[in-house]
Amino acid sequence: MPTPEETRLRLAEIPNLTVFTGAPLSRYTRFGIGGPADLYAETENAEAFVAALWVARSSGMDIEVIGGGTNLIVSDAGFRGIVVRYRGDRLLESNGRVHADAGAVLQDLVDFAIGRGLVGLETLAGIPGSVGAAVYGNAGAYGHSLSERVVKVRFYDGQTVRVFSNEDCQFEYRESIFKRHKEWVIFSTELRLDGGDARTLRETADSILKVRNEKFPVTMKCAGSIFKNLLLKELPADAAAQVPDAAVREGKVPAAWFLEQVGAKGMVRGDIHVAAYHANLIYNAGAGTAADLCTLIRELKGRVLERFGFELEEEVQYIGV
Ligand SMILES: Cc1cc2nc3c(=O)[nH]c(=O)nc-3n(C[C@H](O)[C@H](O)[C@H](O)COP(=O)(O)OP(=O)(O)OC[C@H]3O[C@@H](n4cnc5c(N)ncnc54)[C@H](O)[C@@H]3O)c2cc1C
Repeated sequence: MPTPEETRLRLAEIPNLTVFTGAPLSRYTRFGIGGPADLYAETENAEAFVAALWVARSSGMDIEVIGGGTNLIVSDAGFRGIVVRYRGDRLLESNGRVHADAGAVLQDLVDFAIGRGLVGLETLAGIPGSVGAAVYGNAGAYGHSLSERVVKVRFYDGQTVRVFSNEDCQFEYRESIFKRHKEWVIFSTELRLDGGDARTLRETADSILKVRNEKFPVTMKCAGSIFKNLLLKELPADAAAQVPDAAVREGKVPAAWFLEQVGAKGMVRGDIHVAAYHANLIYNAGAGTAADLCTLIRELKGRVLERFGFELEEEVQYIGV
């Protein structure tokens, strides 16, 4: 096996690839939390990215793919391995078919579609992060998910570049096959959008952005919702029986409802806070640590388990924890 230094040298030989040693991952996460990665490599160039993945895999070191870092909790000790980020960000359109590279910012894709009068992405306005991660986690809001518009996804499985249809991706609520194959890296997606009126779409997106910016101020160090919402039909009967009808939306119960019942709002651990106005929103008030964040998350899961008999599942993804 090559040493990490040998791997760094091999990565450094790849044209168009930026490589750092000991990069503090707190710089790459919206929580602003996370220790150093042994190696960090990023590029906008697909060939350079595949070459980097090939070197990374043959090094035997652990690999983590990141996007914009808006849904990540990274350990205070960082990550003993290689963090890779694909930053290709082309957006192309022809006859309602949109090609989006994984490294494009999701909001740029939303604006791109709206600008061309294409319907289907406007309710995703304001979801932070990249297109690749939005496919990976089937991002969504206001009753719609990206998967509704996905035709194909192009990804690298460690050996070769493959293309999956929408069905192959096995999308569900905040789920896809990519979550079960963390070694796969998404390169791009093709979306099918309908024709519409750009001005109406812009109004819809702007009103969503206004609400979202009040709930999640742009400077807030957080990951949006920490836990996934729950499907009412999948809850234990006892827990389901306690949920008032008014709390159920489209067959789902917000995780925040359960968290509220166990007194989550306003809880504090070190510099990590549960928002006083939203029980499923945890933020770093400045000097928060992953240790405190994970302890608070465990405490909340424990309280819900004890009171309602089921375990909340994180939407947020962990690195090195
Ligand atoms: C304020 C706020 C509000 C939010 N609101 C919403 C919301 O309404 N709806 C919603 O769905 N989400 C929401 N989120 C969560 C977050 O925006 C999404 O999960 C987003 O898709 C993460 O994108 P990212 O590029 O930052 O990914 P990262 O946080 O960097 O990574 C998330 C996961 O994606 C994987 N990944 C990233 N890129 C790739 C790739 N190219 N190939 C394979 N895997 C990849 C990573 O390995 C990781 O497991 C919110 C977050 C914040 C901070």
